[in-house]
Order: sequence, then structure tokens, then C-alpha cells
Amino acid sequence: MRIESRVVAAGRPETPGAPVNTPIVLTAPYRNDPEDNFYSRATPTETRAALEAVLGELDGGRALAFGSGMAALSTVVNLQPVGAKVVVPDAAYSGAVGIFAHAEKTGRLSVRTVDIADTDAVIAALDGGAALLWLETMTNPLLAVPDLPVLIEAAHAAGAMVGIDATFSTPLNVRPLDLGADVVMHSATKYLAGHSDVLMGVLTTTSDELYDALFDERVHSGAIPGALESFLTLRGVRTLVLRMERAQANARELAQRLEAHPRVQRVRYPGLPSDPGHERATRLFADYGAMLGIEIAGTADDAEAVCQRVRLITHATSLGGVESLIERRARYDIDAGFGTPPNLLRMSVGIEHVEDLWADLTQALDSI
Ligand code: PLP
Repeated sequence: MRIESRVVAAGRPETPGAPVNTPIVLTAPYRNDPEDNFYSRATPTETRAALEAVLGELDGGRALAFGSGMAALSTVVNLQPVGAKVVVPDAAYSGAVGIFAHAEKTGRLSVRTVDIADTDAVIAALDGGAALLWLETMTNPLLAVPDLPVLIEAAHAAGAMVGIDATFSTPLNVRPLDLGADVVMHSATKYLAGHSDVLMGVLTTTSDELYDALFDERVHSGAIPGALESFLTLRGVRTLVLRMERAQANARELAQRLEAHPRVQRVRYPGLPSDPGHERATRLFADYGAMLGIEIAGTADDAEAVCQRVRLITHATSLGGVESLIERRARYDIDAGFGTPPNLLRMSVGIEHVEDLWADLTQALDSI
């Protein structure tokens, strides 16, 4: 079966008389049996097990769900031995940049930051051994595209495991486990759940040994998701394919139009032939995602003004929901610190009608 069908069919009860959808099972303990006891921090509830079945199908591995994307990333960080060298992006999701900076500051890890779009620089940083190479399939918010297969091979040759945050691309565009990555992370808060109404994280792996280690780490940290969140994510994931088709088509159209708009200096979107990541994204991804980096021809204040003036598009952080969101990322110290242009707006393109989105963007741009 193709992924469009598997994502709808997987994780459903199969016994006659069972509900079509796995219910929201609200329990901490289960009744003991003579040999064992069951507690839902360690024993997957039916709701969580159904979600993990679908997430595993999507990525081509075994999945573990977490209370947020950051809980998932923390779990990978916690697995690293004390003092281990890790090679991580110098510009990426602020939470990832922050967690690795914190690990360096507290002496927990020895952190080498590097431009992950610069293949030679990553390979040089791996030299001398590293425990982990952490990547994003497309960086947040600069939308740089690393050469995943080359970097995975180089990391393995250097003895490092490879973890990849694939939140922006989703398993529909690239499945890093198929490329040899050891562990894939998603903030399922974004496209997988798709409605901006839950926090959820996921790790997937094809290694049984790594799965067991991550599972144990999750039992210890207690970073499991709640039953309602598991249900909502499972419900959201059923429509992932349709939502992505519309959002990506919208993003493609808006990127082309914005590139020609006089109040726009540059559009970052790997689907544009002018984008530095275009060749790699075309080689590696089925589609280019639905995130845009819009550099306004103007100041930071002009860019903020666009955020204030949009009406259909919501001025808010986060991404990946059905509704379009926009924000100026350099408003955050971490993003400004790694060189995010002050006039860059990150837009998460939703599933609204593209002409309504265009009308909203142009009225806001034309007013500055
Ligand atoms: N990874 C990326 C690329 C993100 O954009 C985010 C959140 O914005 C995260 C991870 C963290 O996920 P969460 O907010 O679910 O903890």
C-alpha cells in the first residue's frame, strides 16, 4: 500500500465490534496480572500505541511519541555520554540551538557548531571523532538544505550517530531513515498534528537497540504525551497528505509571486530555482515544504508592520497548522544571534485559498 492509504489505515482496532477509531484511553495504571504490572508511563496506552503505529509507518521505522518536540530532542541529548563531542547546526531551530548551548555551558557535552549546508565544514568538524551529528532537513528559519546522504555517510565513517529533525519536510518529502539516519525527530506539534492545538514530539528509528535505549530514557524522564494529545495527533495525521498538498501548492505559488514583488528583497524557499538549496532539495525531496522566508525590502520595523497588518494570516509563532502564520524571527535573541536577517519574515503557509492569502500579503506589503 502507498503512504496515502497506510496513513489512513494504520493503527485502527481490528477486532469485530471494535470502534473504528482508537478511543482516548485515560488511565495511569492498568490492572495487574499475576506476573506483571502496567503503568502508562512505561506501558503504551491504546491511544499512544495507535499513534506510534502510524508515525512509524510514515517514517519507515519504529516510533516513540513524546510530550513535545523538545522532549524528543532532549531524549537524544540525554543518551549522549557525558563530555561527548557533538556536531550541531550553528543556525537552526532556536530550541535546538539553545539546548546544545546549555549542554556546552554546563559541561554536559562538547559542542561544535557548524554551517550544515557547508558539507566540507561539517566533515572537518567531525574529524577526530564525534558521538552525534545533529541536522535539520531544512533549517529553521533560514531554509538551508544540507546534503543529507553525504553527511550521513561521513558521520558514520567518523563513528557518529546521525539525528535529523525532519519537522519542516515531513515524512512525505523525505524519509531520513531510508537515507541511513539513525534517528529522526519531528515536532509533531506542526504538520503531523496539523491544527496548532497540541504539543507533541516523535522519534523514529530502525535500530531495535536504539529504540530500547530511547524507550528506557522516556520511562525515566516521563516525557510521554497525554491521551488527548495522542488522539488529536492521530486524527490530524490522517489528513497529512491532503493538507501538505494544498499548503505546498500555496507556498510554491506565493514564493513565485513574492519574488517579483517590489517590497520584497529576497524569498527563501528551496522550490525557487534562484534559491541556494534548490539543487539539493530537488535531488532529495519529493516537494519543497510550505515554509517561506520573506525578506522585506525595508527595515525590521517595516517587517513588523507587515505582521501587524495581515488579517487572514495570523501573527504568531509556530508553523505547520491549517492556518497561515507569520512572524519576524530576529525578534528572538537566539535567531538574531546566528544571523537571521532583521527584515526576514518566516511564513508558515496554510491551506486557505491562495488568492485570499495573496490579497492579504499584498495589502500588507503595499501599506509599508
Ligand atoms: N524542531 C523544529 C524545526 C521546530 O520548529 C520546533 C518548534 O518550533 C521544534 C523542533 C520544537 O518542537 P515543540 O515546540 O513541539 O517542542
